[in-house]
Amino acid sequence: MANDTRLDEVLAALDAGQPAALDRLKTFLRIPSVSTDPAYAPEVRRAAGWLRDELAALGFAAEVRETAGHPVVVARTAPDGSGARRLLFYGHYDVQPVDPIGLWTRDPFDPVVEDTPDGPVIRGRGASDDKGQLMTFVEACRAWKSAHGALPAGLTLLFEGEEESGSPNLMPFLQANAAEFATDLALICDTGMYADGRPAITTQLRGLMGEEIVVRAADRDLHSGMFGGLAANPIQILANALAGIKDADGRVTLPGFYEGVEELSNQLRADWDDLGFDAGEYLSRVGLRHPVGETGRTGLEMVWNRPTFEINGISGGYAGDGFKTVLPAEARAKVSCRLVGTQDPEAIRAALQAHVRAHVPEDCSVEFHPHGSSQASRMDVSDPAFAAARAALNAEWGRDAAFIGMGGSIPVAGDFQRLLDVDVMLIGFGRDNDRIHSPNEKYNLESFAKGARSWARILAALR
Ligand SMILES: [Zn+2]
Repeated sequence: MANDTRLDEVLAALDAGQPAALDRLKTFLRIPSVSTDPAYAPEVRRAAGWLRDELAALGFAAEVRETAGHPVVVARTAPDGSGARRLLFYGHYDVQPVDPIGLWTRDPFDPVVEDTPDGPVIRGRGASDDKGQLMTFVEACRAWKSAHGALPAGLTLLFEGEEESGSPNLMPFLQANAAEFATDLALICDTGMYADGRPAITTQLRGLMGEEIVVRAADRDLHSGMFGGLAANPIQILANALAGIKDADGRVTLPGFYEGVEELSNQLRADWDDLGFDAGEYLSRVGLRHPVGETGRTGLEMVWNRPTFEINGISGGYAGDGFKTVLPAEARAKVSCRLVGTQDPEAIRAALQAHVRAHVPEDCSVEFHPHGSSQASRMDVSDPAFAAARAALNAEWGRDAAFIGMGGSIPVAGDFQRLLDVDVMLIGFGRDNDRIHSPNEKYNLESFAKGARSWARILAALR
């Protein structure tokens, strides 16, 4: 009972503090912490310092920590003596570049609140990705302190400054300091809600394997009048090899490809069915109608729970103006697989290479260039923390929070799982139309306010 009263006090403090919270977010958004452009390095550092100062003023033990690139901000509260879980919260304070600047309706680093048909929004680079999102958690901590007299115990906050440039130094930093980051559950706020504002916890993400293939035949481009019909054509070789990788039912034919692919649990299947996803409608937004994935799979399975093979680029020969009857000397393709379950990216890479090699005649050659790989992540939703967080979101939004998947990757989620051996809960309040990475990025004030209230409820549920 006492806890419920406290939660009400935390929520009341958040509501009363909303204008000041918005001012703090604006100040944060005014710092152009573009991580990928070296010209902004001092601003990235300034954003780290701002965050550290905010957290220190709240009573966190906060510091800016060096890496080989942009720094990370680490903030801690006192250890929890009650045996409650230690929580690690992750967000990133760097932002995407603003190009093309001409498409912004205003200065991307001079944020304002605007009324839109979708309610009031704050517009500016980083409003949603990820400054607005990470501040929902900081504001929840602030309100917690004002109601309880102290910050939540057993909390570590980790804010990265290189997420938008591929996080090259986060894992080395965590590896070097793993003992400090031992935790029981990681929370990541860098994702969105499900369609039309339904709160969501992302519980699985697909992995990725990318490969570039170069097939070479004759030692020069040939005239098809002189060599056509006699000499090998590398585009044909490559096309034959790639075409054979999927069968008529949309299944990938590489040996062992489906090893580690798991069927949905009954609970998740029921949850996903309840989302009412309409594959035809989804495709209609991009001018298409017919799903092409594996026969017998639902649309959400295809994008969240099934692996893919895609040809992302293919080139070779003459493609300029006019016409040239050339037999090219080489052909290239870039291909990638989205992975699920415990599929092994390197085993799949090896199977792909063997398959292509088998199509290449003995007097031709093939070369492979790996382009990264990451395993899929799947959280253990039977951990009671997931049900507790879901109930907290339901209470705040008055709607049933969804356990959803993500077709793309958030590598840090898998890294936390593997390196820190913890479950990761991805909860965010972004919307599909937030225009992250694009001109005129925004964050709905509803997401900002109810996001902070959601974290307050989740903290109460997990403390
Ligand atoms: Zn982000």
